[in-house]
Order: sequence, then structure tokens, then C-alpha cells
Amino acid sequence: MTDVSADGVLAELRALRAGDLPTHGGRTLAYVYDSALPGLDELAASAHALAASVNGLDPTAFPSLLRLENDVVRTAARLLGGDDRTVGTVTSGGTESCLLAVVAARDARPDVERPSMVLPETAHAAFHKAGHYFGVRVVAVPVDPVTFQADAAAMAAAIDSSTVLVVASAPSYAHGVVDPIADIAAAAAAHGVRFHVDACIGGWVLPHGPDVPPFDFSVPGVTSISVDLHKYAYCPKGTSVLLHASADLRRSQYFASAAWPGYTMLNSTTQSTRSGGPLAAAWAVLRHIGDDGYRSLALRALESTRVLREGIAEIDGLRVLGAPSSTLLAVAASRDDFDVFTVADEMKARNWYVQPQFAYRSSPANLHLTVTAANHGQESELLADLRASVKAAVEAGPVAVAPEVLEFIGGLEPDSLTPEEFGGLLAAAGMTGDTGLPERMATVNTLLAAARPALRERLLVEFLGALYS
Ligand SMILES: *Cc1c(COP(=O)(O)O)cnc(C)c1O
Repeated sequence: MTDVSADGVLAELRALRAGDLPTHGGRTLAYVYDSALPGLDELAASAHALAASVNGLDPTAFPSLLRLENDVVRTAARLLGGDDRTVGTVTSGGTESCLLAVVAARDARPDVERPSMVLPETAHAAFHKAGHYFGVRVVAVPVDPVTFQADAAAMAAAIDSSTVLVVASAPSYAHGVVDPIADIAAAAAAHGVRFHVDACIGGWVLPHGPDVPPFDFSVPGVTSISVDLHKYAYCPKGTSVLLHASADLRRSQYFASAAWPGYTMLNSTTQSTRSGGPLAAAWAVLRHIGDDGYRSLALRALESTRVLREGIAEIDGLRVLGAPSSTLLAVAASRDDFDVFTVADEMKARNWYVQPQFAYRSSPANLHLTVTAANHGQESELLADLRASVKAAVEAGPVAVAPEVLEFIGGLEPDSLTPEEFGGLLAAAGMTGDTGLPERMATVNTLLAAARPALRERLLVEFLGALYS
């Protein structure tokens, strides 16, 4: 006897999934990537099912996974200017690829007592996580306040004897701009320091982009590159690749322990048991789409981004930040009589999800759009809704928060926030019911925007703890 029938369980799951943002159809412009290719999901799901129980922990026991991983790594290396010496690892995602690049750089330099890494302040937060996990101090260098590109000269000046790694993005998540990779690579090489190019989001698109300066292993001094398969390679969630220019550079990424009575643990990633499912799914998708397929998917997403960018420039009140050369847009307000957070709510009411990004250093509050192949052909509908959303946001006016609430937030200390203070803030944000998030998030976002970064981190950690049992 079973508790719930298989059909019943799946019906429950479908009902739960119906409450999510749509993962397909192009209306969710962050978190998800839709190729719009028919049959791709079914192929990936079948491949995943064939290997989900296989354990990548021991490639000698399951040689199929060894073969799949080598195939995937070689495909990524070929795309990103690698040669016969290029090696790599398939990881669970971009963050894990970045973490491993940092730990490999740290452990290759046991001579450095207090290691640090130099990165532009636009680098992905995964590097702050890596610094936190592995005790590598983050030296974040300001970027150009207009282009949002890394300042190569300032980064070069920040490299010192404690630097074990230099990082740049191709492109950055927040603004979609490519850093001056060749200049930064030259500076890192001159100091004999490793240089990681974070191409997690753009690596599968940029090689097809017009006018993108070299950003891959063809640039001397680039020692590692991360590229996610679960972004623009349109694979199911759970795969990324970390490439190294040579096996020597990869060695310190591996971990072995014979210091216990069980099997000698030998790992290439932070995981030990590794499901073969995501790897098999990614391998199947890569083989099925192929070089020509990826080229046409990239061109569709790039073309769609260009049309959106030009259309947004025509909307009174909006401007695109920097000069993005990939498929990501950061859209800010060019006037102060409305809030972009309200525009996000208005877009949500029109069934589009765009992602609010808070102001940080030279970057003003804006809306992030990850454009995929599925958006091709939808541009005029999206632009019309964006125009209408700005109009509605102007009519609503800027989000008004009572001065005493702002004062209350200003007085909170992240290190000693009490449950009462947190409760008070939730109440101020209108989050007192048990229905979860309010329909409209502009007030919540305005309150969060008023909190300085350290306090915002603390508030959101508290919030996460309240969500999960
Ligand atoms: C998405 C992303 C990451 C992190 O990847 P996850 O797969 O979300 O862990 C790192 N760097 C860049 C530039 C990204 O866009």
C-alpha cells in the first residue's frame, strides 16, 4: 500500500508549480532561460532520468559520466578559445565555479599568509561568498561611473603581494557590460597572478556577438573562465563549467582526504556524491542544439536585446545603463517623478517579471532584464507594456515612506537587530499577514533601498529564516 498514488503526487506537484513565475514563454526576464525550441525539455528530462541515480563521485565506477564530462568540457573549451592544454570541471552552477576558481587560486599560493583578490565592484556576489567561505579578502575596485566597466588601471594599481587572484566579468550580471579583459589580463600577468574571467552568464552568447573584443583564452594572461550551462546553453538547472588554461592550474582545485577509515575521498568540486542527472541532461542538450543551433539562438537573443534597447531609449523617463554588449539590460529612471520599483509592479500586473536592482555605488536603482531567444518577436508587446507601466508609475508618483520609518531604518544596527525591530519593519512594509509577499513590492523595495547594504543583508537573512521551517 502506498500513501498517495503516483498520479496524485504529480497532480499535487503540478498544482504547486502553477503558483510559480512561468519558466517558459519569455515573460520572466530573470532566473530562467527559454530557448523556445520544441522538444528540448523532453529530451533533457529523459537524459536526466537515465543518469539521475548514477554517482559522479567515482568516475572509474561510472565511466559514462567521465565521458560525458570530458565531452562537455571540450565543447566549452572549444567555444572559449581553449586549446589542447585547456582542462575543466562540470560544477553545479556559476557560484560553485566561482568558488572553485577562488579556492584553487588560494591553495596554489601557500606562501601568501593573508590572501586577497582584486575585482571590480560590479563582479558577481559569488566572489564575496567565496571570500567569506575561504578567508580571501575582497579588494573591490570602483568601476567607470558611466560605462560601468572595470577600470583596468585602478585594478592594476590594487594588485599587491597578497593578491592571489584577479577577477573580471564578460559580461557583468548587473549591467551586461564586458570589462576590458585584455588590459586586466596584462596587469595580472605582469604580477604573475591568476586571472579569472567570469563568463557565467555571457559565455555561450558573446562568441556570437558583434564587436565584442576578445575575452576568452585567446587573451594572454587569462588563466580560468567560468561559463554556466544552465543559462544561455539552455540546459536544465544544475550545470556550469570551470575551465583552466592548463592542468597545473587546476590541481589545487581538487581535494583528497585519506584521513578516515572509509574510501579515500577524491573530489573535483564542493560536492562529493554528484548526480549524473544534470550532467547527462546538459550533454544531451549541447549535442542536440549543436554549434549552428547555438549560433542562431544567440543571434535571436542579441537581436531582441538590440530592439528592446532601442525601444527603451524612446520611452520618456527610461534609460539603459552603460553600453551593454550582450543580452542583459539595466533600465533606470531618467526622471525622479516615479520609481522603477513601481514600474516593476506594473509590469508584474501585465504578466512580465523584471528584476529590481538596488542602487549601489555609482549604479542607480534599476530594472534588470535577462533577454533570451524566447523574447524574439515579443519586443513590441514588451515595449508597449513597459511604456504603459511607466505612465502608471508616473501617475502613482514616487513611493512615499513616512520620515519616521526612514529614521527608524537609519537607526537599526545590523549586528544587534532584535526580533521586535524586524517585526516592526515587516509591519511597515505591509507584510503582516500569512499570505507571504504582498502583490505589490514597491514599498518593500523602497524600505530595503533605504537600508544600507549591511543592514539589507541582515534583514533579508532574517526574512529567509522566517520563510523556511
Ligand atoms: C549567474 C551568475 C553567477 C552565479 O551563477 P549561479 O548559477 O546563479 O550560481 C556568477 N557570475 C555571473 C556573471 C552570473 O551571471
